[in-house]
Amino acid sequence: MTFDYDLFVIGGGSGGVRAARVAAGLGAKVALAEDSRMGGTCVIRGCVPKKLMVFASEYAPMAEDAAAYGWDISLGAFHWPNFQRKLSAELDRLEGVYNGLLDKSGVTVFAQRATLSDPHSVRLADGTIKSAKHILIATGGRPVRPDVKGAEYGIVSDDIFNLPQLPKSILIVGGGYIACEFACILNGLGVEVTQYYRGAQILRGFDDEARGLICDQMRANGISIHMGTDVIGIEKTDTGLRVEATNGETQSFDQVFFATGRRPNTDGLGLDALGVELGRGGEIVVDHFSQTAVPSIYAIGDVTNRVNLTPVAIREAMAFVATVFEGKKTPVDHDLIPSAVFTQPEFGTVGLSEEEARAAGPIEVYATSFKPMQSSFAGRSDRVMMKLVVCAETRRVLGCHIVAPQAGEMIQLAGIAVKMGSTKEDFDRVCAVHPTMSEELVTLKTPARVA
Ligand code: FAD
Repeated sequence: MTFDYDLFVIGGGSGGVRAARVAAGLGAKVALAEDSRMGGTCVIRGCVPKKLMVFASEYAPMAEDAAAYGWDISLGAFHWPNFQRKLSAELDRLEGVYNGLLDKSGVTVFAQRATLSDPHSVRLADGTIKSAKHILIATGGRPVRPDVKGAEYGIVSDDIFNLPQLPKSILIVGGGYIACEFACILNGLGVEVTQYYRGAQILRGFDDEARGLICDQMRANGISIHMGTDVIGIEKTDTGLRVEATNGETQSFDQVFFATGRRPNTDGLGLDALGVELGRGGEIVVDHFSQTAVPSIYAIGDVTNRVNLTPVAIREAMAFVATVFEGKKTPVDHDLIPSAVFTQPEFGTVGLSEEEARAAGPIEVYATSFKPMQSSFAGRSDRVMMKLVVCAETRRVLGCHIVAPQAGEMIQLAGIAVKMGSTKEDFDRVCAVHPTMSEELVTLKTPARVA
């Protein structure tokens, strides 16, 4: 049987673009359909614009600290339209880079929505049908609004980058990493930020001690965080949005931002009819090789809701190409993935939290929290935390958790040691780099807790 393509990729985000161009580089005839902007969530409405907003938001405290260090400095206002113009130009540039990479690799791009019509065919929005030996679904996910009265008046993370102006006040609903990051970003840009989270502590799933410290610091930085609180309904008034909350309060905000979860983009793709299994959240169920229940159809990235991070989608893409186009069956390794939460202070983490490790067996916890030299000199009361969770029997470092400026940079390197299976004694054998914050990771002498 002959096909139009060896591979048809649906979705031009982190995973889809990588799989398409690497497969094409190996000589496969590849097509890709993207119905929005090339680059997907990470480049257009996720990691990249968010990190640029993190940078923008960090200049105010930096300028204050510079004054404390003796610089004659005064901070003017933040001009959102100026930043937004530059941001938009940068995203256009990156989208161009992605399109250029696909073009150079010889991938045929269809700028339209694609759905599946049979195990080897894709239907484009213009009605054309294209056949392919393999189909890769890399359609990502999208933010969802909660089912509350007036939810349509709120915004979601996709909207934040395109606001015509910054609100004076905002309510952020949610306690996950996207909610917390934007709470810190907007607070840093001068917006009055209130955050509602229905749970008992923000950043569920991460190390409890780290969560507590980040929450304390966010509050100290001026964010009004309310736990155990959710939105009942929103009413639009002449002056803004009146929000009725489960804590009995009614308060008005200029803007409400729902960071209450994401859903995989599988609606209307035609997967049910083909026998591709979907999970309860709408995610595509795949095996270790990203293969679905239909052998010619694979899925990678956020649409599979495994670990929803850009580098993971990229690794899943590379493993898919190795398996299908290089004849090397390559399972995806989802173990010990380091990650960062770009709150202020930043959080870098790899491996088990203290709570997870304790549930698995006897552990020793080595931890320290202190005022770092740079901000302490400037008169700030910021605290950082360095923590190692160690298996009491094997001495392996099971988890490393860092709350500190640049923790994302630090955890990338600590992640190598943890992934290599280093023991606490391996960490101890490394000479400290002085004076740094991370030197504490190799000088933690006595366990803070044994459990
Ligand atoms: P996506 O990048 O979402 O790409 C899917 C593409 O498919 C989209 O372009 C979409 O338009 C297209 N598409 C969907 N359906 C169709 C169809 N039927 N036909 C044609 N095209 C279709 N990850 C990190 O690692 N670090 C971070 O700091 C980070 N920050 C984030 C911040 C925010 C606000 C968000 C929302 C996400 C963040 N992420 C971060 C997660 C990261 O962006 C995703 O994990 C990553 O983009 C997933 O890549 P993907 O290829 O699976 O999907």
